[in-house]
Amino acid sequence: MNATQRDDGLVGIYGGTFDPVHLGHIRTALQLRRELPFAEIRMLPAGQPPHRDPPEASAAQRWYMITRVTGPERGLVADDRELRRPGPSYAVDTLEELRAELGEARPLAWILGMDAFAGFDTWHRWREIPRLAHLVVMTRPGVREPERGPVADLLRERRAVQPQALTERPAGRILVWRVEPLDFSATDVRECIRSGKQPRFLIPGVIWSYIQREGLYGSAH
Ligand code: ATP
Repeated sequence: MNATQRDDGLVGIYGGTFDPVHLGHIRTALQLRRELPFAEIRMLPAGQPPHRDPPEASAAQRWYMITRVTGPERGLVADDRELRRPGPSYAVDTLEELRAELGEARPLAWILGMDAFAGFDTWHRWREIPRLAHLVVMTRPGVREPERGPVADLLRERRAVQPQALTERPAGRILVWRVEPLDFSATDVRECIRSGKQPRFLIPGVIWSYIQREGLYGSAH
């Protein structure tokens, strides 16, 4: 923890597969760190993501990559708790663990993209999540806010207009935040590499060097 971080401030949890971590993740995390009252943002690679195919890169490889782009000087901290926990990585379990560690009063916010938020009602014990944390939903090009159904209802009930709402209480509000549009995903990065192209401008050079060294995503052709 550095001098600018406070041990009672808002903690952001940016979960994802990070297969691989790309500039869409890094730039949005840094933008949220700058624009919202976060004391720190924890980047948490999922061990076994419950809603998708298993990642191509191993847990150790995804952990290595995330630690290349995080650092306390950026206010981004890598957290390996989901990689260490056996079984599917459910956000609700992670948040219960963090609540127990950080205490009832500490404001926590789970950060997710609008695409992930649209399917929030399929998450394990999703109705309990707002009791444990706020949600910060990042806009994503081509993905509209849900207009009907349980996720739209949840958003209507809990929507925060101002970022300060996230520090006024420990959990329960949903803030939709416009992030600089970066219209690509880790799937696009993997496809770009597999087709023999260089993923310039999509991932940092240090991540590309590592992917080539490890022969990940079919880069060894
Ligand atoms: P994949 O294509 O493998 O599904 P992804 O990049 O969409 O990968 P994750 O690595 O699981 O997804 O991303 C973690 C979180 O970051 C998700 O909540 C996702 O919505 C969000 N995210 C990823 N890329 C962007 C982006 N370019 N802009 C905004 N949010 C993003």
